[in-house]
Amino acid sequence: MKKGYYGLSYHYIRPDAEKKQFPRLFGNHESDFIEHVKAYQKHYHVLTPEETLQYSEDKNYEIPGHKEGVLITFDDGLNDHYRAAEILSDMGVKAFFFCPTCFVDGEPANPIIIHYVLYKFRVSGFVDLYMKALEACGVSREEHGVSYNASTDDHWYIIKVLKNKFKTVFKADIARKVLLWMYDHGLKKVYENPLEVMHLNEQQIREMAAMGHEFGGHSHTHASVALHSYDKAGFQKEVIRPQQILSEITGREIYSISYPFGRKTDSFTPAEMMARTDKFKLAYTIEKIMNKKDTPALELGRYMPTSRDSADDILSMFKQIKQNTIAGYDQKLVLNKKDSE
Ligand SMILES: [Zn+2]
Repeated sequence: MKKGYYGLSYHYIRPDAEKKQFPRLFGNHESDFIEHVKAYQKHYHVLTPEETLQYSEDKNYEIPGHKEGVLITFDDGLNDHYRAAEILSDMGVKAFFFCPTCFVDGEPANPIIIHYVLYKFRVSGFVDLYMKALEACGVSREEHGVSYNASTDDHWYIIKVLKNKFKTVFKADIARKVLLWMYDHGLKKVYENPLEVMHLNEQQIREMAAMGHEFGGHSHTHASVALHSYDKAGFQKEVIRPQQILSEITGREIYSISYPFGRKTDSFTPAEMMARTDKFKLAYTIEKIMNKKDTPALELGRYMPTSRDSADDILSMFKQIKQNTIAGYDQKLVLNKKDSE
């Protein structure tokens, strides 16, 4: 089996000083992240975004040093990513940053509103604000309301129920309206400039591009691209325009996208994407597969490190992903054989 590469999808990279606070809500910490990157550099070739494009497009291109590769990517255009970009730059690594673009309208992306409302108001405060938002936005509280008792209810369960409302139960425009109400009436009351706390700004993006990092699309508001059946204008606004926005800020061609939420149901197949646009050369999901020469460039996999993952955990995850990928290939071979018999 020829060599391939593993994609990684990071989100929050928080300062170590916050380690004891909300360890599960806010992803990885800086020192852990640095350990991860050192391990990738020791055992793999860390690919630049341009090298991954070359890997997919040029069949003669092989990963340098006869090694397997690792590609580091970040989703959601979080303010943390500026610091992450500096750390990587110091370590000689270039990464992909997939960035929702609604910040240019002065608004944060959907899941980031959820994270920060939970962070600032805890689950009970979130539920209060949510119930008020339903009322204000004319959404049925009988149908969509939730109740939460901090001493008896499992807060992880209620968080799951709420996230699911915004992602799949509500239509995209209703979800957006309710979340922006919570942003205006919750986060704007406790932060002077919440957008700057949550997301990268244009200046930071320009500087990160100057460090040699690449940007890619992640939709405008972080809505599931495949789950909502966008019409042409909706698709243009949510998926195509972000490319133009990022291109104008960075002065570079934007040729990649990572699907928000990234599961199969959130992502187009390569054929479905090609039927809508030919503007993307690379598209990343969160399917746990090793990306190989015959992996479609519009259906590349990534692993999302959890907040508990050590460098060793991720290295053993890579081994497991490789095994699964090989098993998948064997199955395909068997099927092909059956077909021809
Ligand atoms: Zn995302």
